[in-house]
Amino acid sequence: MITIEEQFEKHPVCPFCSTQIDKLFTSEIRSFLGRRYIYYCSKCLKVLGLSHRKGFWMG
Ligand SMILES: [Zn+2]
Repeated sequence: MITIEEQFEKHPVCPFCSTQIDKLFTSEIRSFLGRRYIYYCSKCLKVLGLSHRKGFWMG
């Protein structure tokens, strides 16, 4: 069984630049499919994920 625990002391690490992510950038994309939000690393600017909704990771 896997348990999920919220924690705030450690930051996730960017898979591209290997720095700890304490901030993500997000931009809104408008396409014919509707709005999308793109999330990217604030250090190397590589894209980490897309979401349909703002503030909802990989939604
Ligand atoms: Zn990065």
